[in-house]
Amino acid sequence: MPPFAELAAGVSRIVAPNPSMMTGPGTNTYIVGEERVAVIDPGPAIPEHIENILEKSAGSIRWILATHTHPDHSPAVAALAARTGAEVLGMPAPAGAHQDATFAPTRVLADGDALEAGEFRLEVVHTPGHASNHVCFRHAALNWLFTGDHVIDGSTVVIDPPDGNMKHYIESLQKCRDLGCAALAPGHGEIIDDPVRVIEWIIDHRLQREAKVLAAVRANPGLTTIELVPHVYQDVAPHLYGWAERSLLAHVLKLEVDGVARRSNDAWHA
Ligand SMILES: [Zn+2]
Repeated sequence: MPPFAELAAGVSRIVAPNPSMMTGPGTNTYIVGEERVAVIDPGPAIPEHIENILEKSAGSIRWILATHTHPDHSPAVAALAARTGAEVLGMPAPAGAHQDATFAPTRVLADGDALEAGEFRLEVVHTPGHASNHVCFRHAALNWLFTGDHVIDGSTVVIDPPDGNMKHYIESLQKCRDLGCAALAPGHGEIIDDPVRVIEWIIDHRLQREAKVLAAVRANPGLTTIELVPHVYQDVAPHLYGWAERSLLAHVLKLEVDGVARRSNDAWHA
């Protein structure tokens, strides 16, 4: 991916220099607007990336928005706000590990809110699932959705309970699909220009995995979550079983809420 790209009139993207297995090519930072600018997901607090954001923003940065508060999305907010005096918009970080506790919104967002910038309008869509405080932003004129880690390009996102919630994730995917957006601008990877097809693929993929989890619980009653992993994730190498267990837990917790599976002590039954 190019480190900087102009994607549409008044929308450009800088890729933060934090590539990894979890972040793909790096975190996408979006710059919206030409005179008065909004920055979406400034990313990790890497000084050269922050300088780059300041340099590539043609106008003055008035707003800084975070889709959520995982460490690859929001830690640069504080430094960028200090440099620009911009307003900080987002939902506060929940308690727990893998959260950026430095994130301090001056405007706390809720579903249905909008940032009216004159030049553009960003509408807030609360999308819990990957993270409880996750929001997407719909650019009204372009009908694009900035999706953070709710939908990313080229791989599936981690749903890590308890803050990650598979039932909420699937419901939030349905909500975004029904917006009928023209394109998705994800937190990692390239623009997705067939949103409905991609979102439906993700929903199908998750529900197929869920069916596999339920079949494994039925065939092997009384196993714990980690014991179920090899029955569900035959395609996953054993050194990744830790991640697979988190994902499997997200599925069985959804099945429990749906009334299909139940837990006694740490063992699962259907
Ligand atoms: Zn995330």
